[in-house]
Amino acid sequence: MPSQSPFQINIPATDLLTYLFPSSQPASDVTIWIDADDPSNALSPRDLLLWVKRLGAGLQGLGLKKQDVVLLYSHNHIFVPVAYLGISGCGCIFSGCNPAYGVDETVYQIQNTEAKAILVEPSLLPTLLKAASKVKFPKDRIYLFSDKEADTWDHGVRDWRSFLPSASEAHAWNWVSLDARQSRTTIAALNYSSGTTGLPKGVMISHQNVIANVEQSIYMRNLEQPYQPDSRPQERWLGFLPLYHAYGQLWSIVAAARTLSPCYFMRSFNYVKFLENIQKHRVTHIQTAPPVLVMLAKRPETKEYDLSSLKNILCGAAPLSKELQNEVSTKCDLKVVQTWGMTEVTCSCLHVPGGRDDRSGSVGYIDPNATIKLIDDEGKEVNPGERGEIHVKGPNVCLGYWRNAQATRESFDEDGFLKTGDIAITDRNGLYWIVDRKKELIKVKGFQVAPAELEALLLEHEHVADAAVCALQLEYEELPRAYIVLKSEHREASTEWDIERWMSDRVAKHKQLSGGVVFIQEVPKSPSGKIQRKVLREWAKEDAQGW
Ligand code: AMP
Repeated sequence: MPSQSPFQINIPATDLLTYLFPSSQPASDVTIWIDADDPSNALSPRDLLLWVKRLGAGLQGLGLKKQDVVLLYSHNHIFVPVAYLGISGCGCIFSGCNPAYGVDETVYQIQNTEAKAILVEPSLLPTLLKAASKVKFPKDRIYLFSDKEADTWDHGVRDWRSFLPSASEAHAWNWVSLDARQSRTTIAALNYSSGTTGLPKGVMISHQNVIANVEQSIYMRNLEQPYQPDSRPQERWLGFLPLYHAYGQLWSIVAAARTLSPCYFMRSFNYVKFLENIQKHRVTHIQTAPPVLVMLAKRPETKEYDLSSLKNILCGAAPLSKELQNEVSTKCDLKVVQTWGMTEVTCSCLHVPGGRDDRSGSVGYIDPNATIKLIDDEGKEVNPGERGEIHVKGPNVCLGYWRNAQATRESFDEDGFLKTGDIAITDRNGLYWIVDRKKELIKVKGFQVAPAELEALLLEHEHVADAAVCALQLEYEELPRAYIVLKSEHREASTEWDIERWMSDRVAKHKQLSGGVVFIQEVPKSPSGKIQRKVLREWAKEDAQGW
C-alpha cells in the first residue's frame, strides 16, 4: 500500500500573486528582500508588488503571450523576485539560467525553452550576446536587468526599465488570475533537471505546484514548534541559494513573501562573506546543502565569527551523513533538519519537523497531501526497513517535461507516480532515510551534473571514440569522472590532462571533470548499446579508494 502523508492541509487553489497578495490584506511595507552588502537596497512586499505590476504590464506591452517563456540570466539580487513573480504573474513562464553557464550552455537553454525574451544582468551581457548571435536570437528582445538604475543602453541592448509603464499606470494593471483548474495547468516556472536519465530538461512547475510546496514546507517547518508570531522571535534568513534553482525560488522568494521573513540576499556564495553576513545580520535560519555543512564543520574561519543567532539549518539537495549532521549541530549549537526533494517535485517532499532535534540522518516524513511508494527492481512495493525507489504523487509533483512527451511518459509509473531514481528506506513510524541513488545524476556541491551532457560533449573531441561519465564518490562530495576510449590513431596524441582542460573551457565549474579522466579500451554497454552504469559505478568505487 502506498504511504500517505500523516498530515493533511488546505492548499489555496489560485495563482501565485493572488496567493501572496490577497485583496483582503494590504501588502506589507516591512522590508523582506534585502541586499546583504547594502541593506538600504531593499524591497518590501508593497514595493515588490508595484514592480511586479510594472514588469507584468510591460511584458504584455511588448506583445508577449500567455505561456511564452522569459529567460533570466543573472546572479542573485533583490529584483530577481520581481522577475519571477512579474513574469509568472502576466501569464508567461519564468526560466532561470545559471549565471555560471558559458556560451554553449546558455544556447542550450535559450533553444530548449524557446524563450521569447531574455532579461540579463549587465555583467553577463557579453556571454549572452555571443549565445544569442549563435542562435540568431533577436537583440531587441534582450533587456538589461539589475537592481540598480543602469545606463539605458549597453552594446545596443535596452534596460528593462525602458519598457515599463509608470507606477501610476501600473497600479491599475491586474495580473492574470487563475481559477483552481487553471492554477493546476498553468506553468509558472521551467526549472532545469536531467531527471533520471539523459540531458537537462525543462521541468514544468505550475502555480499550484509552487503554492502547494510552499504550504507543505512551511507546515513541516512549523511542526513541533507551532508558530505564533508573538511567541517566536523574528526569523532572519540568508538568501545565497541560487534563484535559478527551485530551492532558492521556494524559500528566498515565495516562502519569504508568505511568512514575511526578511531574507538577506548574497549575489553568490563565498564562505567568509557567508559567516560575516550571519554575524552582521543576526541570521536565525538558513536553507542550504551539505557542502556548506562541511565548511561549517571543517573550515578554521568558522570559529572566528559569532554565529550564536543561528538556530536552524534546513539541509537538502544532496546526501548528508548523520555524523556530519551531528558534528554541525553540536559545534554550532543548533538544529540541523533534513529535507529531500528534487526539481520535479517543485523543491521538496520529505521534511524532518522544524522543531525536532534529529540526530538520525533521516530526511523526515512525507509532506502533507503527498503519497509515496517504495519500489524494488521487480516493480514490487517493499516493506519497512527494505530498500526501494521513491515513487511520489502529490500536489507539488510537476506537470512533466517541457515539449518532451516521451521523457514525461517515461518518468511516471502506471499509477501516475513520479519515478525519482532515489533509493530510500522507511521505518514503521513513517520516517525516511535516503540510502542510494540509482539514476545517472551526479550532484556536485548540490548542483546537478548530467552525465549524458558531458558524454555528448566529449564525443565532439576529435580524439575521443567513446566516453562514459559517472560520479567519483568521496567522503563528503561527488566529482564527475570520465572513462574514455581514444580513437586508435590518436592514442599517443592526448593525455588525460588535455581532455580535462579541454572540458573546462566548455562547461561551468561544477561540471568540470574534477574526478579525473581514465583511458579505457571499451565502454561497458548492454547488448542494446546502453552504457552499463552499474559497472562504471563499481570502477569509480574502486578508484575512489586510491584518491
Ligand atoms: P535537484 O533536482 O537539483 O534538486 O536534485 C535532486 C536530487 O538531489 C535528488 O533526486 C537526490 O538525488 C538529491 N537529493 C536531494 N535531497 C537529498 C537528500 N536529503 N539526501 C540525499 N540526496 C538528496
